[in-house]
Parts: sequence; structure tokens; C-alpha cells
Amino acid sequence: MLDAYLKNGELFLREMGIEEITPGVINENYLLPVSEMTNGAPVDSEQDAISVLRAFKFELPKSDNKVKIHQSLTKSKKGVCSLCGQKKEIVSNKSFIFPFERKIDSIVSDNGRLHFCIEHAFKLYSAMAYLYTVPVGGSTLRFFFDAPERDLKRFKKTFKDDFWMENFKVTAETRDGKKRYSISAKLALSRYHPNEAFFAVLHEFVKFLKNRRMLKETVEVGRTVRAYLVYGSGQIYKERTIEGTTLERLIGFIDRVQEAGKETNWGKRHLERRDSGVVLFYEMLEIPRGKDRAKNFLEREEFISRLLSGRFDFVLLNGIFMERVKNKLPLPAYYLTWARSYFEAFGGDVVDKETFEKINGLGYALGKAMKGTNLERYQWELFRARGFEEFVNKLVELQAKLETGLDLRPVYENRNEWKVVKAILLNGMLNALYGGDKGEGD
Ligand SMILES: [Zn+2]
Repeated sequence: MLDAYLKNGELFLREMGIEEITPGVINENYLLPVSEMTNGAPVDSEQDAISVLRAFKFELPKSDNKVKIHQSLTKSKKGVCSLCGQKKEIVSNKSFIFPFERKIDSIVSDNGRLHFCIEHAFKLYSAMAYLYTVPVGGSTLRFFFDAPERDLKRFKKTFKDDFWMENFKVTAETRDGKKRYSISAKLALSRYHPNEAFFAVLHEFVKFLKNRRMLKETVEVGRTVRAYLVYGSGQIYKERTIEGTTLERLIGFIDRVQEAGKETNWGKRHLERRDSGVVLFYEMLEIPRGKDRAKNFLEREEFISRLLSGRFDFVLLNGIFMERVKNKLPLPAYYLTWARSYFEAFGGDVVDKETFEKINGLGYALGKAMKGTNLERYQWELFRARGFEEFVNKLVELQAKLETGLDLRPVYENRNEWKVVKAILLNGMLNALYGGDKGEGD
């Protein structure tokens, strides 16, 4: 991650026309990366820069007097640089130089911590220019990209100079002679957790690319682009990478769902055509739990987290559907659009599209037959089935009571994946029983 992060700093300095790093150059330019991170909010002094770092949730000493950005980059001692391994003048790492150092409690002595030569420290520090931050509840999601230099440069141009500049705003307000900065991101999707936040950014980015007719070329460049996501607080953060090929498929997936949407009103909200398919399903993945709304979205965060790894978790989804039925809430609209778009973009994981269609159709047909009868409780019997045998027995029993003879072969053929099969079947059944008119937007 260190090398990937460094590349962003090098790119920024090159774009600024800075080639050689000397104390004079640092002195003159060290506010630039901070200002770039804010998309151009005024950053005129070290004090301003410290306020920005605080707004972006960098881990800093409580008192501003102890932060000393400029001094941390220049006041050096002799030692070995953790990056280039050379014996040089070095500085200790600070959160604003490389923010992702893991400090494992006090076990690691000062010698085990990261130190950088002046040049590498300034390059790493400059990488914040292309570090992206989204406030999420009390925490933040941070991410940055890595790619071969030429691709990184092109991708950065689209993502940062065009898209991010338009959707991400930092405003400065002066109070008692001190600037305070606040961050706002223009995103159609709600987010309470970090993976949700990244998905919300992607949805916006895909819309942006389509409006500018830049989707195809950006996806081509993006194939080599890897995203690094970092979230959590302090030293116990989590990180994940999303490979370019997955990113490409995710973009293809989102594109499909967006195109299937229809302009509509949802409560007080007006949803544009490209928002509705994504927003309606996503926002209805909520399970009501109480005051702390973030807890309502724990399953959604998990579902989205898996989606970002290229998996579509039907079992998790079925858990959400059942909870919503229990709470008499509508099922997420555009379910089939999401599932089909997934199979088209990713090709499937444990089951393929054909299997999905067969089992979903079976569940739907059963649901239609059950509707209005006293057999509706079978959804719960099936849901509680704790093994393939029990599951199939319940299905056969239900068929007999309904006096139907549906083809159960797809169920037997996918015995090894019976939990997924059960989830898909139940989702289809629930949609037949409770699906609203907004179901698929058609
Ligand atoms: Zn070095």
C-alpha cells in the first residue's frame, strides 16, 4: 500500500511541475497537497492546513501547537528511510505523511515505526492530494487509486479533476479568526457504513461518465486501476483493495441497473430515471431496529461489501427480505434487475444465470399458487429448513397441498448449493406473495 500511495504523491508533484525536492521547495509548496485535497478551498497558512486535516479526520495531537506540519517534514535526524533503505536525513512518520501506518500498541518500539528520508516523506505527504474522503457517520471512508503511471494519470483526470471536483465540496468558514472546514458530498444513496459509501460514490461516478459520454473509454483505462479502501478509526482500521477487473464489472453492473430504472416519486423524493433502479432496491435493504439508524443497515453494508468483491449474496438478501416481511415492509423493488444485472456483468458465482432463472421462476409460481390460501405459512417452514432433505420434503409437501406438479429438478441438480437455492426460491416466492407494483419498474 505504501508504494501505491507514493505513486499518487509523485503524480501530483509532477503535475505541479515540481521535480527536485529541497527544503526551499518544501517551504514554498507544502500547503499545495492540502489545498488540492479540499478541491481548492482556501488554505493559506499552516493553521488553515491543520484545520483541514482535522476536518478530514487525520489523527493529530489534540493541541494545534503540537501538530507542526512544516517542521515534521523538514526537521530531520540521521537514520534509514523505510522506503528506499538509504542512510540519510530522515523524519518520523506522521498521519499526514503516510496515514495508514499500523501501530501495534506499544509492542513496536520507535525503531520499528516508519521513517522516511526528506524526499520520500514529502512525496508521501503529497499523496493526500489524491486521497478521497467521504464522511460516514462518525467515521470516514478513505480511498485512493493505483495503476501504471500513464493509466493512473488518465483515470485521475476523469475521477478527480472532473467528477470529484463537481460532487465533493469543502467549505471554509472563519470563526474567531480561525478557519473551520466542512465536507459535503453530493451522493444520491444514503450511507452509514464505509462499503455503502464507496458504492454510493461509484453509482454517482457511473452517472457522471454516462452524462459526459465517457463511460466506455474510462472503463477501458480503469481496467488496470486498483482501488484501495481504508476505513475505521485510529490504528485499528480496515483496508481492502478492489482490482481493476472487478471495478470494471461493478461499473457494468451499476450501468445496467441505472438503465433499467424509471423516473418516479418515492415518498417525498423525486427519483431520476438513472437513480430509481439503484436507489429503490438499495434503500429498501433496511431492517428497522431502533434509534440508531446505522444498525438498520448492517446487513446492507455486508451485502454491498460482498458485491464489491464480485459476489451476490442471495442468502443474506433472503434474510433481509424475511425480516422486512415480518415487519410488514415492502420488499426491495428492482430485485430481478439487480440479480440479472449481476449475472450479466459478473457471470455468476455459485449458481449461473440459467439456474437462477429456473429457481426464481419456481419460487414465483409457488408463491402465486399460495397467495390467498392458508399455505402462506410455508414460506416460514421453508425458511427454517435446516438441511437439504428437510427443505426438499417441505417443498414436496407444499406441492402436494397445492395440487401442483412443478419441475423440482433445478433444486436437486444444485443440491450442493442448497442454501443459495433455498434463498433464491424464497425470494421469488416472497415477490409473488408481497411484491408491489413498483416491483421491476415495468
Ligand atoms: Zn527514501
